[in-house]
Amino acid sequence: MKKRIFLSSPTMNGTEQSYIEEAFETNWIAPLGKNVNEFENELASYVGSRYGAALSAGTAAIHLGLKALGVKQDDIVFCSDLTFSATCNPICYEKAIPVFIDSEEESWNMDPVALEKAFQEYPQVKAVVVVNLYGTPAKLKEIKTICEKYEVPLLEDAAESLGAMYQGKMTGTFGRVGAFSFNGNKIITSSGGGMLVSDEKEIVDKVRFWATQARENERHYEHKELGYNYRMSNIVAGIGRGQLTTLDKHIEKKKWIYETYKKAFQDILEVKMNPYLEESVPNYWLSCLLMDEKSKVSPNDVIDALEKENIESRPIWKPMHLQPVFEKYTCVTKNGVYKNSERFKSIGEKVFLNGVCLPSDIKNTEEDMERIIGIIKELFSENK
Ligand SMILES: *Cc1c(COP(=O)(O)O)cnc(C)c1O
Repeated sequence: MKKRIFLSSPTMNGTEQSYIEEAFETNWIAPLGKNVNEFENELASYVGSRYGAALSAGTAAIHLGLKALGVKQDDIVFCSDLTFSATCNPICYEKAIPVFIDSEEESWNMDPVALEKAFQEYPQVKAVVVVNLYGTPAKLKEIKTICEKYEVPLLEDAAESLGAMYQGKMTGTFGRVGAFSFNGNKIITSSGGGMLVSDEKEIVDKVRFWATQARENERHYEHKELGYNYRMSNIVAGIGRGQLTTLDKHIEKKKWIYETYKKAFQDILEVKMNPYLEESVPNYWLSCLLMDEKSKVSPNDVIDALEKENIESRPIWKPMHLQPVFEKYTCVTKNGVYKNSERFKSIGEKVFLNGVCLPSDIKNTEEDMERIIGIIKELFSENK
């Protein structure tokens, strides 16, 4: 069997161990401790946000972020349609109602035109959740401007886009709340974990309070609000601190992977790489290939051909409005998703049906890339 090539697996740099050792030596294994505080400071300062709250997952950051923005039962929340379900699930944890907004074709992220349309129908919306898919920034300026016009807070799901920039500013800092993830396959990983960032101290203090069981400041255990066990451990934070030291290297490598694919596939007329906006710098978390609708090669053909050679790839996220679990919400809106134009299939569905995520592992060597590219090129030349 040939060497396995992964989609995106953890890449440790060796420094993580020293942060963990320090935690062991000082017996600060749990609950909190220096690594948690420092990781919050270091990450917030890296992205240019005032405060960070280290949590057990990116999903927890989105959940408590929505709560901090006042989202409650029966509130409407606009949400990117083409994304991982963790962007949307927390809306439903709070029994609020997600309304899905289609993508535009230039970044595959939330279409400001579709967003504006949705606002006209639901001016009373409580919050907007925008994702930067695969590490590619959305049209954040336009989206922010629309949110400001309607005086509705923006939550940025930057779980996939740590280190990506839009107009010279880091993603995760455009909304009142930003959420990052350090899950196993993200651009850096702490084995699992997340971070909420905000410039507002009250929000971050409240989130830390909820995340530690909402314990009031009394000697005994006094609870006036519903609490959660969402805090990050000091060990996990140590891994995160170590990883943060090589984040820029990871981005560089991911960019090289993207550019290598782009160059290799430029002669195949029926494919394009995932696009990004000129005013943005992605972190290139995952490189994706989009096939022309008329192409004889399907995403499944690519996935099968690679899998046969022990190489991992996967489909594009399936849009939220097509997910059975959210069906009870999508019947509220026309076709389940707000689009730029009613004449066409949603852009998200088109990308889902014709796209594929290519192996984007930081440890990919030049030979690995040649192996992957060779298989894909052959597939397209056989199916002309
Ligand atoms: C990974 C991911 C999340 C969730 O992060 P976890 O740390 O796994 O909870 C949320 N949104 C998007 C877009 C993601 O890719």
